[in-house]
Amino acid sequence: MNQNIRVRFAPSPTGPLHIGGLRTALFNYLFARRNGGVFILRIEDTDQTRFVDGAEDYIIESLEWCGLIPDEGPRQGGGFGPYRQSERKSKYKRYAMQLLESGHAYYAFDTPQELDSMRKEYESRGETFVYDARVRESLKNSLTIEPQEVEEMIASGRPYVIRFRFESNEEIVMQDMVRGEVVVNSSTLDDKILFKSDGMPTYHLANVVDDNLMAISHVIRGEEWLPSLPLHVSLYRAFEWEHLMPKFAHLPLILKPTGKGKLSKRDGEKGGFPVFPLEWKDPISGEISPGYREEGYLPEGCINMLALLGWNPGTEQELFSLDELIKEFQLEKVGRSGSRFDPEKTKWFNHQHIQLMEDEELIPAFQAVLKVNGVDTDESRVELLVPIIKPRIDFIHEVWEESWFFFHAPDTYDPDVVKKRWKDDTPGKMEQLAEALEQCEPFTAESVETVVKGVITKNEWGMGAIMNAWRLLLVGAAKGPGLFDLAAFLGRDEVIGRMRKGIRKIVK
Ligand code: GLU
Repeated sequence: MNQNIRVRFAPSPTGPLHIGGLRTALFNYLFARRNGGVFILRIEDTDQTRFVDGAEDYIIESLEWCGLIPDEGPRQGGGFGPYRQSERKSKYKRYAMQLLESGHAYYAFDTPQELDSMRKEYESRGETFVYDARVRESLKNSLTIEPQEVEEMIASGRPYVIRFRFESNEEIVMQDMVRGEVVVNSSTLDDKILFKSDGMPTYHLANVVDDNLMAISHVIRGEEWLPSLPLHVSLYRAFEWEHLMPKFAHLPLILKPTGKGKLSKRDGEKGGFPVFPLEWKDPISGEISPGYREEGYLPEGCINMLALLGWNPGTEQELFSLDELIKEFQLEKVGRSGSRFDPEKTKWFNHQHIQLMEDEELIPAFQAVLKVNGVDTDESRVELLVPIIKPRIDFIHEVWEESWFFFHAPDTYDPDVVKKRWKDDTPGKMEQLAEALEQCEPFTAESVETVVKGVITKNEWGMGAIMNAWRLLLVGAAKGPGLFDLAAFLGRDEVIGRMRKGIRKIVK
């Protein structure tokens, strides 16, 4: 393994993992594997107020479902642990102190109430309050209060935060592997909180410190973190770690099916598609959000679909296995603009990945669906069914809908089809066909086809009309796979039985 390439997926366990998060994990994984590097899972749980029970397990299970197994993480361990930030709590304070000492940070004692009234006052003037270089000199912090007094305030247990001190009016120049050079003026930024007197770092400090301590070489994350980049880059510079700074790649947003705005949970609810890999039950409200796994999607299809949201292989190829993705993936081929999520295309990927599976692999899944529907049949029968039904399904759970008539004779006959296909002379023709089939030996798809076509040709009947009427007798509707395959599966007695039953029962 190449320890110089180390990437991390760093989710916060604040709820179920959105498919956008899963795509971030996937791109990190692909980048690591492609370069022989290390894929790390780090749980960013410093904000205890947003902690949600079960979210960490959910994230890990989602990654496992997709086969994205970390090399280092809370379950695997590793040489850079612990991999949960709450267990690293004791590490962060000294870094906040280092910034205080070098003048890149300062204590601030303004209470939430004070800040709130400040905000309101600004608002009443039609302005926005920002804790920045312009106002910090007039607020309650260690830039305005004497050092002696600051020490006393801290000693007396007065709550404080430590804020990053941005220079005023400085051009911060950054490089991003997806967007190229990004320049932001520090006057547009606020002095973000890095650390609180309860001993907890905020996301920004913990994230940068851990990336450094874990020797992360590339930070690959969603575009929503791009606004944090100036602070993160400034932190690296303030720590004098710039030579160790990872390369950054901010992935484009996954957009709503309409192409306008970021894909949200609500879009899924409205459009009837999941936005989470696994089903999620909210531990407080009990609300259930559907998951790709439970809806019958294959992880292979989901991964393939996600890979192409933002990454472009540069060829026409659309179907990729995880191994093929590893071979092809390049961060340079990630585009800048958001990618529209297409629920129909996701189904298409699922269909395609079912087709890519060997028939044999599908037997147990088919058998399970049949069993649930009361059909306990042996493997040799299912083996015949798989190649016939496989091309007709997008999901395994559709097996029954597409194949029930392999096991049960129809009891009813679609009246629309009867009206259209059942003519006065049809019963006689069908009887003649049944008589011919009684003599068909062996009763295989090929010989049935020869016999049926022979009868049609001899009598100069129309092929379409006969096949449609025959289908009505065997299936009860105008649907289903090729009739010769179906007939061979059913066997002579069942076919003749269904034909005679239908001839008796169908009345126009
Ligand atoms: N904890 C952040 C998140 O929830 C991590 C962002 C990053 O990768 O830096 O996505």
